[in-house]
Amino acid sequence: MSTVLRNPASIPPKPPHRLLRGYAFDPSLASRLDTMAVSEILYKVPWEDLRDGPRGEYVEVVDVDPPSDRFYAPVDLDAPEVLAQNGLAPSDGNPQFHQQMVYAVAMTTIDRFERALGRKAFWADRIVTRGRRVEYTYIPRLRIYPHALREANAYYSRDKAALLFGYFPAGTDARSSELPGGVVFTCLSHDVVAHETTHALLDGFHEHFMEPTNPDVLAFHEAFADIVALFQHFTFPEQLRHQIAKTRGDLSNENLLAQLATQFGHASGSRGALRDAIGRYDDTLQKWVKHVPDPDELARTAEVHDRGAILVAAVFDAFLSIYGSRTRDLLRLATGGSGVLRPGELHPDLVKRLADEAAKSAGHILNMCIRALDYCPPVDITFGEYLRALITADKDLMPEDALGYRTAFIEAFRRRGIYPDNVRTLSEDSLRWSGPDEDPTLDPGKMRGLISEFVRIVGLRAQVDTLRYAKSREEIWTKSAEIRKKIHGTIASEIRKAEVLQRMTGLALAEYQAPPGVRVRRDGVPSFQIHGFREARRLREDGRILNQVFITILQKVTVEHDGELHEVRCGSSIVMDLDDMSITYAIRKGLNDHPRLMRSIEYAESGQMAAALGSTYFGAGREPFAALHRT
Ligand SMILES: [Zn+2]
Repeated sequence: MSTVLRNPASIPPKPPHRLLRGYAFDPSLASRLDTMAVSEILYKVPWEDLRDGPRGEYVEVVDVDPPSDRFYAPVDLDAPEVLAQNGLAPSDGNPQFHQQMVYAVAMTTIDRFERALGRKAFWADRIVTRGRRVEYTYIPRLRIYPHALREANAYYSRDKAALLFGYFPAGTDARSSELPGGVVFTCLSHDVVAHETTHALLDGFHEHFMEPTNPDVLAFHEAFADIVALFQHFTFPEQLRHQIAKTRGDLSNENLLAQLATQFGHASGSRGALRDAIGRYDDTLQKWVKHVPDPDELARTAEVHDRGAILVAAVFDAFLSIYGSRTRDLLRLATGGSGVLRPGELHPDLVKRLADEAAKSAGHILNMCIRALDYCPPVDITFGEYLRALITADKDLMPEDALGYRTAFIEAFRRRGIYPDNVRTLSEDSLRWSGPDEDPTLDPGKMRGLISEFVRIVGLRAQVDTLRYAKSREEIWTKSAEIRKKIHGTIASEIRKAEVLQRMTGLALAEYQAPPGVRVRRDGVPSFQIHGFREARRLREDGRILNQVFITILQKVTVEHDGELHEVRCGSSIVMDLDDMSITYAIRKGLNDHPRLMRSIEYAESGQMAAALGSTYFGAGREPFAALHRT
């Protein structure tokens, strides 16, 4: 009898990626001759062990179809036939392919988000209130329902911790490129899936950005979801080259990269995409026209999606100017110095080089947009504050800004009337959040001493290390909750240190200084919540490692307005440098900002808040992001 010897070293390591075929934008490209060749791409998803569904670490696809009372068998992406062919072939008639498509796009989006932040992403906790006690439960997986609704819609539901996608018959406009009455599946649109996944990621990051306390909050949610979907287009290599060739390198002309949900737009009766960052289809002129930035438009625009579109356009504009300045030398080289292209097709080498530059600029712009989230106030975000967050976060990592990214952002935002209140000029230095070091009312030496003592008491460095070596997302979640508790306890017991924090954050943290309106616990400590705790280790352009911690503190205050009492949420985001043991920024929405408190109440009272919610709400439910578009 012979023995078979198995050499364990012959088993190859797990692959880094799983390749999955899918639609690049949506199925409509496959039916048009000019885009047919670029209608598909291979999504490169980080490898993970999967169960049928697919069900992995972050998401679980559940394919029940309540409108038709059906259940579609879950796809097994590990089946040899499927693995060997990079997944199922794109097909709008195969539900298993739909499952593969939502999985591929959702995982691509999560991966993009995690790579920008350098840490794991989390879904919003399930929050259950029992009397005064609030319980938070960890949500490991987001559920994705590819066939949840029979209507032209898709949405993220926090209550269900799920993404719900609809399908619907296309309109009967014969001029549209869609088959009249043909079925359109929103789960087959990269843009719709990426947009909804981003809503869920942002909600897991900033839970209170769903509370519209000013006209920008929900508009920011919409804009951010569009920005991520849009800039992911630049990671589609063939499509990028195709569109660069088609526009002869000028991406400010009509192109697919700047448009969102083309098929959805056509199928619901419009001649253009659902949204377009640089132009729109003009029904009277019967052609696509470029959008001209108007600094007064923001003040006139209240509807959430329209307002969000202004922010998206500003970010896209910043991208276009960076792309323009990064490719100017290439165009000069290609044109014998004139920079003016001769008519006709571009040389494929030039197309490739232009595409490389576009991909690089788009990648950096998207990183900036995602990283800025760490530098946003935890409540009541405005577009102007987002600009400040963008500038500050980028300056921390790239002190020099040699390529002019920050200048491009400031310029593009200014042209659309987006700037913060209370800044002296629109220079980079006045837009950057100021730190406690620049606050003349704080004694810098004393402050630093107290903060580093506070860091030592909490054992913050060792705590952050335990987070970094945690083995699973659940372990990170549990440890962060412990750290938050420890910070809360330390603030409550170390009143002297708390006083410095109180001055910086604009919140009431020490017992003897709680103003009326802030609830005080039985032991005399004001009621406040350490809501977020995150860490980041990022490489600066000069080679230094930036070792940071981000803490958010929340507090509610009851104030009187027109004889009635109103509760308003306040909060502060603290950015700490763990190497210096210092607080670099305290980004605040404090108790003492009386005008802000009054504005929030008036906004809620005026009915504008209800209108903002109305344009995003679905029916009478509690689903703020139920509306993908206005109808
Ligand atoms: Zn949305």
